[in-house]
Amino acid sequence: MIDKTIFENKTAVYYTLGCKLNFAETSTIGRLLSEQGIRRARSGETADICVVNTCTVTELADKKCRQAIRRIHKLHPDAFVIVTGCYAQLKPQEVARIEGVDLVLGAEQKSDILSHLHHLDKDRATSAVVTSPIRNVRSFSPSCSSDDRTRHFLKVQDGCDYYCSYCTIPFARGRSRNGSIDHLVRQAGEVARKGGKEIVLTGVNIGDFGKSTHEAFIDLIRALDEVDGIARYRISSIEPNLLTDELIAFVARSKRFTPHFHLPLQSGSDMVLKWMRRKYDTALFRYKVERIREMIPDAFIGVDVIVGTRGETDELFDETFAFIRSLDIARLHVFSYSERPGTQALEIAHVVPPKTKQARSRQLLELSEIKQHAFYARHIGRSADVLFEHTRKGERMYGFTENYIKVETPYVAASANEVIRVLLAGWNPDQTALTCTKLQRHE
Ligand code: SF4
Repeated sequence: MIDKTIFENKTAVYYTLGCKLNFAETSTIGRLLSEQGIRRARSGETADICVVNTCTVTELADKKCRQAIRRIHKLHPDAFVIVTGCYAQLKPQEVARIEGVDLVLGAEQKSDILSHLHHLDKDRATSAVVTSPIRNVRSFSPSCSSDDRTRHFLKVQDGCDYYCSYCTIPFARGRSRNGSIDHLVRQAGEVARKGGKEIVLTGVNIGDFGKSTHEAFIDLIRALDEVDGIARYRISSIEPNLLTDELIAFVARSKRFTPHFHLPLQSGSDMVLKWMRRKYDTALFRYKVERIREMIPDAFIGVDVIVGTRGETDELFDETFAFIRSLDIARLHVFSYSERPGTQALEIAHVVPPKTKQARSRQLLELSEIKQHAFYARHIGRSADVLFEHTRKGERMYGFTENYIKVETPYVAASANEVIRVLLAGWNPDQTALTCTKLQRHE
């Protein structure tokens, strides 16, 4: 039984690290607390409660979490500090020892935060830790968040059963599980009712959707495609082996699912892919990219790649570079391999020095720039539908085309959260976006 009086006249701040899934989940925690009357602290105001939702994807992520917690404690010295998320699940005792932390909640407790808030007293010698063994976590907590109110992130799936050799996410988030199609369609309807125009489907391994409800991802996207009021959906990162031809064909026909794919390649060397325990090889990856190009010639294809994994010699990196250069893709997201305790990758002897990792990363980022530049350039002079965002940067505002080209235009409040047909013109001054001439608003 919750003693609601402890929440009276209280304020809270929220701090999220890591992926969009975490942002969506923090948003749900914020809603739960606001339903108890806890108001969000205004900027500059010290809060009574601080919630930190953490990430543990790399060593650097752990470090950033520790720094964030210390900073928050300094800014809000009397606040009751609750730390949750992947880092809290994986290393609860380490988190509990950080100065200022009062309560550590694991993956399962995150969505049930209220039942763990018995008091908000700071005068305790040690912090309380509540976690469950991750293998027992089967519950799915629905979440949805928005960035600047234009784009909404709908969590459709959580956890992962893949156990790639370098990754700790399955240990932090547990088995693959998902929301039901019925419930997710209702959530999308909610977003539409609140005026949301774009939904990004988010999860850890979203192509694996359906494990816990015996449904299929393709049926989810078919059902979402029917929701009135939503102008656009984007499918966030999807494993190449789970991106079926049927799915590509559906996106090609759909009016609402945008021609935008984000595929984690991780390495362009079959040897490294094997060590990583990925479920595809370069031939399958190439096939998927070619299928997309065949069915949707102007699709944006973003590709994740990790440099400097154990075992990645100069020759194997050269293979990766040559493979990626040969693909017709629009952009790379480059990550540096980070050693994670308890992972199988640590059994591989060859360690890549940090300087080599940095050099490889730079090389791929340059390649990414060339590819993105070419992709944008081929759209200059064409018309496109752009959903403009609320955020104002100086006198400018930005939006994205369906195929994820960033577009800049002078700020006009009435254009925010509107889909507008434009003519794509040349580059903006710093060459990060295309400029445009507005043609008409879409009804
Ligand atoms: S697919 Fe591999 S890299 Fe992605 S979350 Fe699962 S184990 Fe980690």
